[in-house]
Amino acid sequence: MWRATVLTLFPEMFPGPLGLSLAGDALARGVWELETRQLREHGLGRHRAVDDTPAGGGPGMVMRADVLCAAIDAAAAPDDGRPFLLMSPRGAPLSQARVREFARGPGALILCARFEGVDERVISARGLEEVSVGDYILSGGEIAALALIDACVRLLPGVMGEEASGAEESFEGGLLEYPQYTRPRDFEGHEIPPVLLSGDHAKIARWRREESLRLTRARRPDLIAKLGLKD
Ligand code: SAH
Repeated sequence: MWRATVLTLFPEMFPGPLGLSLAGDALARGVWELETRQLREHGLGRHRAVDDTPAGGGPGMVMRADVLCAAIDAAAAPDDGRPFLLMSPRGAPLSQARVREFARGPGALILCARFEGVDERVISARGLEEVSVGDYILSGGEIAALALIDACVRLLPGVMGEEASGAEESFEGGLLEYPQYTRPRDFEGHEIPPVLLSGDHAKIARWRREESLRLTRARRPDLIAKLGLKD
């Protein structure tokens, strides 16, 4: 079973949206498992402090290496084969390819930071992989962790209704998805492109491929460059 362990100061944020819809049904059916661990249980002193002032000065607080490592050690099995992740804006931006790798594996142990982040030594001491969900700053790792887990869980066998619906999505072929339409045929004077109503499946496939290319060229030239296509 795919298993996520989330280390956080806010376990109440879980399962949150992961308790609903596809992910929630799969959680209820035991396709995957979610465990949250309160970091403060490993906090120090009467106030169970998890953070302290930054060495060298500066604003904010930094999460302590001793506290975080104790929490990781308590949450990890001795032979834990899962990747240990730190949600972090400094990490490699999460990609569908990396999500696929995580989903194929046994799960993930995910550390969610707060404040200014974590003492650097936690990362090397426990071999954490830093994962970012984009070039912007959230106030904590929890929403990033929810995004990562959601992306993984929907790929687990038996979670998505139609197995096929994963294969054609944005990024799966290295391109953005083509535009989609449904009824009504005329919406405020805008018609569904006639090719989609033609019943000619080869022609439809060609149109979709061209639209994917057109959109990707216009919006994400970086993806086109990665595919080695001429733009
Ligand atoms: N001072 C840090 C940002 C801290 S934000 C810096 O400049 O890099 C607090 C925490 O929120 C981070 O430690 C991380 O766990 C989480 N977080 C914020 N933005 C994120 C992002 N884009 N991706 C993943 N995690 C993020």
